[in-house]
Amino acid sequence: MSESPSQPTSRAGARPRPRVVVAGMGDAGVLVATRLARSCEVVGISTRPALVSGQELGNRLTNPERWRRSYLVPYRRFRRLDKARTVHGRITSVDLRGAEVHVERADGTAVVEPYDVLVIATGASNGFWRHDRVEDLGAIDADLAGVTAQLNAASTIAVVGGGATGVSVAANLARRGGADVHLFHSGDQPLPGYHPKVRRWITGELRKDGVVVHPDHRASTPEGFAGDHLTTDTVSWSTGQPPFKADLTLWAVGGVRPHSTFLPAEVLDGDGFVKVDEYLRVPGHPNVFAVGDVAASDPHRSSARNWGYRVVVANVQALVRGGDKGLKVYSAPEYRWGSIVGLQDDGLTVVQPDGKRFRIPRWIAEPLLLRVFVTRFLYGGLRPSRSDQRS
Ligand SMILES: Cc1cc2nc3c(=O)[nH]c(=O)nc-3n(C[C@H](O)[C@H](O)[C@H](O)COP(=O)(O)OP(=O)(O)OC[C@H]3O[C@@H](n4cnc5c(N)ncnc54)[C@H](O)[C@@H]3O)c2cc1C
Repeated sequence: MSESPSQPTSRAGARPRPRVVVAGMGDAGVLVATRLARSCEVVGISTRPALVSGQELGNRLTNPERWRRSYLVPYRRFRRLDKARTVHGRITSVDLRGAEVHVERADGTAVVEPYDVLVIATGASNGFWRHDRVEDLGAIDADLAGVTAQLNAASTIAVVGGGATGVSVAANLARRGGADVHLFHSGDQPLPGYHPKVRRWITGELRKDGVVVHPDHRASTPEGFAGDHLTTDTVSWSTGQPPFKADLTLWAVGGVRPHSTFLPAEVLDGDGFVKVDEYLRVPGHPNVFAVGDVAASDPHRSSARNWGYRVVVANVQALVRGGDKGLKVYSAPEYRWGSIVGLQDDGLTVVQPDGKRFRIPRWIAEPLLLRVFVTRFLYGGLRPSRSDQRS
C-alpha cells in the first residue's frame, strides 16, 4: 500500500478491476476498504494517515495507551489494505457526473481520483475528538497527549452532554479518580435514543462511580461555539441554574456537523447528511454509496455500528458483478445499543436495543474481543505496531 499519483485503471493484457474510491477512512471506511481491496482497485482518501476511531472516548482519555492499541492504527498496519492505495489529504469536491473526486493532498498538491464506485464515509465532527482537519501521526499524538495533560491537571471536571460520549467520559474519569466529575445533561435522564430501561440504569451506575449528575441543565454556549475544545470558563445555563465553574469543561453536546461540504447540495438532506436509500445508495446515483455518521440512513444515523459496511460491501460487489438484483437492505433497531463505558476492570457491559444488557468478563473481553475479534476478525489482521506508530 502506498501513496502515489493516480494510475490508469487498465493495463495492457490485464482485465481492469473496478475502481472503488472510499472517501474517509475512519471506522466505517476502513471496514469497507479492507473488504473490497482484493476484488477491486481501492483508493482510500483520508485527512489522516491512520484509523483514529471514534469509539471509546472515555477509554481514550483515561487510558490512552490501551485505547491506541485497538483504535489508533496507521493504515500501513492493516494487512488487508496491502493491495489498496491511500491518499493522505482532504476531499475538496466530487464531480458526480464525471465520476471524479478532487483531493488536496497533505503536501498541498492536488490530485483527481476517478472512480467506478464511490463510497462516502467521511463521518461528522462531534466535539474535540472528531474533526476533518488534515493531520499527521505527530499531530494526532500531540492532541492525545495535550488533552490527557489538561485532564490530569484538573481537580474538578465538568462534562456537558448526556449522550453516550458524555456518559462514557464522565464514568471513566470518575473511575480513574483524582478529580471531582460533574455530568450535566438536559432532560431528566441521560442517553437519549437508548431504551428507557438503559436510561434508568445508567443514572444509578454513574452515581455509583462517583459522578455528580445534574439533570435538566442546558448550557448557554457562545454563538458559533461547537464544543470543539476544552474550556476553563464558567458555564452558565439557559435553564436557570446557578453558573458552574470547573477547572476544565469537556463538551459533548452532540453538535454534530457532517463532513459533506464537498458534495453537491442535491445529495444532502436539510442538515447536510448524505441521503441514502435502503441499500445505502445515494438516490439517483447507482454507483455512489454512503455509510457511517455522514449517512442519513436511519433516525440515529447508526450505520457504522449497525454493520452498514457489510451492506455497502455486498452491494458494491453486486454492482460490479453487473447486477442490480439481490441488493442487501440496511435496517437499524429502534433504540441505540452497544458498549457505553467501554472495557473496565469488571469487563465489558453491552446494552441491547431491547434494554437488556450483558457483561463479558474482562479476562475474556480483553483477549477475545479486542485482540481476536477487533484485530483479526474485524480488521483482518494487523502488523505489529511499535515501529509504525511513530514513523
Ligand atoms: C464495529 C463498530 C462498533 C461500534 N460500536 C459502538 C459502540 O459500542 N458505542 C458507540 O457509541 N458507538 C459505536 N460505534 C460507532 C462509532 O462511535 C461512530 O459511529 C463511528 O466512529 C463513525 O464512523 P465513521 O466512519 O462514520 O466516521 P469517522 O470514524 O469519524 O471517520 C471519518 C473519516 O473521514 C475523514 N474525513 C472527513 N472529511 C474528509 C474529507 N473532506 N476528505 C478526506 N477525509 C475526510 C476523517 O478524517 C475520518 O478519518 C461503532 C462503530 C463500529 C464500526
